Amino acid sequence: MARVQLQHVWKKYSNDFVAVKDFNLDIQDKEFVVFVGPSGCGKTTTLRMIAGLEDITSGDLYIGDRRVNDVAPKDRDIAMVFQNYALYPHMTVYQNMAFGLKLRKMPKAEIDQRVRAAAKILDIEHLLDRKPKALSGGQRQRVALGRAIVREPAVFLMDEPLSNLDAKLRVQMRAEIRKLHQRIQTTVIYVTHDQTEAMTMGDRIVVMRDGVIQQEATPQEVYNHPKNMFVAGFIGSPAMNFIRGELAEEGGSIYFRTAGISIRLPEGRYAALRQAGVVGRPVVLGVRPEDLHSDELTLETYPDAVVNARVEVVEHMGSELYLHVDASGQPLVARVSARHEMHPGTPLRLAMDLNKIHIFNQETEEAVP
Ligand code: ATP
Repeated sequence: MARVQLQHVWKKYSNDFVAVKDFNLDIQDKEFVVFVGPSGCGKTTTLRMIAGLEDITSGDLYIGDRRVNDVAPKDRDIAMVFQNYALYPHMTVYQNMAFGLKLRKMPKAEIDQRVRAAAKILDIEHLLDRKPKALSGGQRQRVALGRAIVREPAVFLMDEPLSNLDAKLRVQMRAEIRKLHQRIQTTVIYVTHDQTEAMTMGDRIVVMRDGVIQQEATPQEVYNHPKNMFVAGFIGSPAMNFIRGELAEEGGSIYFRTAGISIRLPEGRYAALRQAGVVGRPVVLGVRPEDLHSDELTLETYPDAVVNARVEVVEHMGSELYLHVDASGQPLVARVSARHEMHPGTPLRLAMDLNKIHIFNQETEEAVP
């Protein structure tokens, strides 16, 4: 069983800097969990505490049923893969993978069996006699994974393992690590600052900021129902549009208003908005670029949510366009099909998909459900 539990975990460094604050998380056996957040948010510190490379200032860490706060790293039944996969240059791939097991005085026959089994899983059997300098970046990363796999740990800890690879290889290795997880069925805790990596790899993602968990949920849940403006802005590319304004109630309807923009919100949301006490107050309306539409059908479906805009910049992304527009002084980004002809200066009407908009309290930055 490789359930990992963190209960009220804090990390204060010797300079009194508090890097992790009251971290609570229950990671299930065989789960793939991704810690994601901007540089300095405490992801690596948390991972290193799980690995035993950093002391826990207070709180409890369990791996399986054991409290491991005071257990040495080598006795925690974990393996860590780092971004600088540091292979020994003078050793062959085989020797690199066998090294840790040899240190543990494992019988030669068992070492051989484990190395060959891992090489097969990773499709590097043909590379076993090569030295690292004769490998590509992706192959080296696979050897680093192999070195961890042969130890048959209960938990894999990975700290930005793909960040030294080029973009194309990263996409490929992303899928390979997912496949690897399906094959070896162990718990994985994966750290990245890249939201795409988090969204595509995690069963569950933990979004962190300044040492505090902002939200932990499935990628879909985090994307569709971000709990606050930080999560909403961090997850998704291009980022969610934020429009500052106010909610006003008139004739039984609730409108979002700001200079040149007036949107009648769907009635289904009124109860929650009233309960949150944001009617008549400053709020932020959030709308993702793909939920702004220029086609006639959406314009007709959402006549209460149309904004007039002018195209400023067109980014061609192949099958779609990213349009940077100006809507009465409000900059917005829309993601539309490349079938539309768009040029800077083109006047444009955009309709928001009212089922997909987000309302945040401007003061607390929390989402109103
Ligand atoms: P990155 O993606 O840049 O690695 P991160 O989210 O992994 O960022 P951490 O490396 O966990 O962040 O660092 C969290 C905070 O703790 C940072 O502000 C960092 O400067 C600080 N920190 C890290 N190590 C120490 C240390 N040994 N002493 C004091 N402060 C530290």
